[in-house]
Amino acid sequence: MSNFYTLDDHDLNGKRVLLRVDLNVPFIDGKVSDTTRIQRVAPTIKELSNKGAIVLLLAHFGRPNGQVVAEMSLEPVAPITSKIIGKDVTFIATDWHDDAVSTATKNAKAGDVFLLENTRFHAGETKNDTDLAKKMAALGDIYVNDAFSAAHRAHVSTVGIAKLLPSAAGRAMQQELEALNKALGKPQHPVIAVVGGAKVSSKLDLLGNLVEKVDALVIGGGMANTFLAALNQPVGKSLCEYDLTDTALEIMGKANDANCEILLPLDVATAKEFKQHADSQNIPVADVADDDMILDIGSRAITALKTKFDAAKTVVWNGPMGAFEIEPFDIGTNQVALHVAKLTKTGQLTSVAGGGDTVAALNKSGAAQDFSYISTAGGAFLEWLEGKELPGVEALNK
Ligand code: AMP
Repeated sequence: MSNFYTLDDHDLNGKRVLLRVDLNVPFIDGKVSDTTRIQRVAPTIKELSNKGAIVLLLAHFGRPNGQVVAEMSLEPVAPITSKIIGKDVTFIATDWHDDAVSTATKNAKAGDVFLLENTRFHAGETKNDTDLAKKMAALGDIYVNDAFSAAHRAHVSTVGIAKLLPSAAGRAMQQELEALNKALGKPQHPVIAVVGGAKVSSKLDLLGNLVEKVDALVIGGGMANTFLAALNQPVGKSLCEYDLTDTALEIMGKANDANCEILLPLDVATAKEFKQHADSQNIPVADVADDDMILDIGSRAITALKTKFDAAKTVVWNGPMGAFEIEPFDIGTNQVALHVAKLTKTGQLTSVAGGGDTVAALNKSGAAQDFSYISTAGGAFLEWLEGKELPGVEALNK
């Protein structure tokens, strides 16, 4: 039993549903270059419409800072959404001070879908302003949130309206929350977390939270260098936050108290230069020379991690194992990710990954499609990994 309502809990026929979605899609030369976000919410839009609801799509786009900014209008997104869901989507221009939405939807029929203008054109949106919340809530009978990626923000369209109307999680939100709960809420043990990426400084809260929840924590990427340096290992010219070596020791101490095993690279791939196809050497950490840069985990490390994963039931992943954008330093990330993908495919484990670069790295490795769940939610996914309550999720609690 989840602690939020879903579309199954409401009678939707003839109801006006305010549906918060993430349509913050990338544009290149005036064209939408990636429709993933629209695809993710399409099932919820279609289900609501098919069940006879009048669907009012609420979304933000960019950061217009409470002003009407023509380039940040959602208007061009309406025809693309329409094509993806196979139904007309009527765009409604508004500055959210006028009554354009109530006027334009007065005679709406069951099944109609409307896309309302960028919620951030009104300064009250990001301040969770009460008057704006009342105004938006008055447009609908039910509020549905399908934008997990915006759930770390306490805005009118993510929190304010939810407090004023009967609410529910949309299908994409529901799927995301169920996947995350399976990974860290009530996971099957052993749970292994994989954390990589450039810096320890950007992931302190995340590491602190994970060591208390997981059985083993794999630390890779540039951030592993800070941990190695803290253990008096040579890291040469590698990316390293020397001012955080004490913090690294504290995290290792906390892990020890919580019975969480920390796995640092057994060996590393190094180069003298940070460039594509640089001459790479696979060496034990102890042999890293003063002019070496550690750019990936080594082959022994890869084999050791694979063996660890063979015994795991759950894997949570954020951050690449090396500088995956330049070859051959994508090997560590690719090999480990493909192994996790294989074990997921055979049903041996549940794997959840997310966070900006992680999605790109796992897509590049070809492992992404076999992970149990890949979150594209960036900031919200990281805050969840940090163990924080997300206001947009909390607002849906029964
Ligand atoms: P993050 O955004 O914190 O997940 O960091 C991702 C970035 O970390 C990627 O651009 C990688 O190239 C970079 N990275 C990973 N490992 C290393 C390394 N050993 N040295 C330098 N950069 C790295």
